[in-house]
Amino acid sequence: MKKIILLGATGSIGTQSIDVVLGHPNMYEIVAMAAGYNIEELKKIIRIYPTCKYYSVRKESDALALQAMYPNLHFGHGDDGLLGLLDVKADMVINALVGFAGLKPSLLTIEKGMVLALANKESLVTGGPLVKAALKKFKGTMLPIDSEHSAIFQCLQGNKTSEVKRLIVSASGGSFRDKTREQLVDVSVKDALSHPNWSMGKRITIDSATMMNKGFEVIEAHYLFDIDFANIDTIINKESIVHSLVEYVDRSVIAQLGTADMRIPIQYALSYPDRLPLMQSEPLDLIKVGMLHFDAMDFERFPLLALAYEAGKRGGNSGAILNAADEVAVELFLNEKITFLQIEECIAKAYETMEFIANPSYEDLRVTDEKTRAFVYEYGGK
Ligand code: NAD
Ligand code: MG
Repeated sequence: MKKIILLGATGSIGTQSIDVVLGHPNMYEIVAMAAGYNIEELKKIIRIYPTCKYYSVRKESDALALQAMYPNLHFGHGDDGLLGLLDVKADMVINALVGFAGLKPSLLTIEKGMVLALANKESLVTGGPLVKAALKKFKGTMLPIDSEHSAIFQCLQGNKTSEVKRLIVSASGGSFRDKTREQLVDVSVKDALSHPNWSMGKRITIDSATMMNKGFEVIEAHYLFDIDFANIDTIINKESIVHSLVEYVDRSVIAQLGTADMRIPIQYALSYPDRLPLMQSEPLDLIKVGMLHFDAMDFERFPLLALAYEAGKRGGNSGAILNAADEVAVELFLNEKITFLQIEECIAKAYETMEFIANPSYEDLRVTDEKTRAFVYEYGGK
């Protein structure tokens, strides 16, 4: 029985992780869960998964109300509650938090000797070198949940990283893939939130439309697989069926295919190196799909992808700047304070303005995050 701590339980990845665990009740057990502000969703989860004893939420008032309602369970709150959950004895932590908030729990997971199943790509975007150093120091294991990275990880099985020529990270193209830049000027929040292939949290859906998400995934791939940025390419596969590819030195290209179902990569992280049947899922029917399309990525159409490569290569606190700027810019867009294209402008401005730190400590990254967020609220909120 593998014991799991699930961070971000009420989110898109969180709820799908619970689904995967419920499919194999004799193999996996969730022993602790962290959530944010969505208490109704958490109550639903407690109903369908009543055996988990330890919880943490953001607000103290929510924790107190839940404690009164469920006297046999334990509810913490805030950062202490979240990090305190990692004291519960477990084998693996699924980090499905969103944003910079995920970095500290990732580091602590490794420090405490638990396997890190990582959905929170921001851990690597903001603190890649710190996560790598912790993995080395504590001889830790990190497994990808992001679909592209799970695909690459699967394509690498049985092969040597030293024989990889390049990684090719797939992109769906997001909600606006068929629009020109001119047509992006007055797109609405509602349209931006309707992703053609995947149903995900709000931030990552907007990040897919701006291609910031793909930029983050290039940085994520760099740290996960130790491949130079020069050898990481991106490609548009609008069907979201070819989840990514690995080209080897002998010109052989291995791809991983599947339906757009995040439970596949989530379950692979749980079951690795084994594979298990996935309950209640549709098989991939390539005959029904009929045709797969591939397009080159347009770096002028998607300047944030170019900026992510640049930030990834510069390293230091660059990813933390990008992430914090994006987090706030997306929030301002969702609240209709800025337009879609102003997301790019806010991020570029923050990148250009914020102080560069070459070898940041966790504390430097935290301060970078705080200052960048304040900068974008000020710049974009005007
Ligand atoms: P989401 O917004 O649906 O869920 C985020 C979860 O984290 C929620 O449970 C929320 O309450 C919780 N949370 C956020 N901040 C918190 C904090 N400070 N403390 C405690 N809990 C907090 O997001 P999501 O779409 O599930 O994405 C989660 C992560 O997985 C992100 O890093 C995203 O980039 C990545 N990811 C998501 C998908 C997807 O299909 N949704 C695919 C690949 C990668
Ligand atoms: Mg992805």
